[in-house]
Amino acid sequence: METTDGRRDHTAPLVLVLFGAPGVGKGTQAQILAEKLGIAHLSTGDAFRTAIANQTAVGKQVQRYVESGALVPDELVSQIVAEELQKPQYRSGVVLDGFPRTIAQAQALEKILSDLGMSVTAVINLVVPEDVIIDRLVKRGRKDDRPDIIRHRLEVYHKETAPLLQYYQEHSTIPVITIDGNADIETVNQRILSAIKSRIRSDAQP
Ligand code: ADP
Repeated sequence: METTDGRRDHTAPLVLVLFGAPGVGKGTQAQILAEKLGIAHLSTGDAFRTAIANQTAVGKQVQRYVESGALVPDELVSQIVAEELQKPQYRSGVVLDGFPRTIAQAQALEKILSDLGMSVTAVINLVVPEDVIIDRLVKRGRKDDRPDIIRHRLEVYHKETAPLLQYYQEHSTIPVITIDGNADIETVNQRILSAIKSRIRSDAQP
């Protein structure tokens, strides 16, 4: 949130969007960041996997998309995120992991947050070379980490998600912070925290 004179309001809740291709380490970093910053963590991928495991109504709706590596339709994801973010645990801030993934989702997020009196503080763009990504995902071995599905998820990323970065850079005042994610977990985490500290919030704990 910006103050009237254009400076960032340091008391506004932190809303960090972790952005990047599948396998760059968004989930891992989001969890650690949320813990260190004392804010919530919302992963749409985790929420979908739990819903599928429990075979809830949402789980049944999203299963075929998640298992084939396609994107769940924008309206459905946005509706689920809108409902989730109403909960009080998000009032003090949140690390969003895996959402938004399209320009339509980013626009939906803007509306959801503004209705809550919040806004995106920064987009953290994690970058890892594609051969490293494929190696990490194959080793992780989740159900959607089969080579053919990984390839499809990477294609979907390049086609539908990557353009979102340009959208943020060109159509918003939200800072996009690019971080080299090709290092061990703790090193990457320190890079993110020090970037937040120097670029956004001096009170972010390294
Ligand atoms: P990864 O980043 O490794 O692809 P995620 O857990 O973020 O893993 O996502 C897993 C799957 O969940 C995606 O391939 C997609 O099917 C679905 N999904 C997660 N978030 C979204 C979203 N914001 N929009 C559409 N589909 C999503």
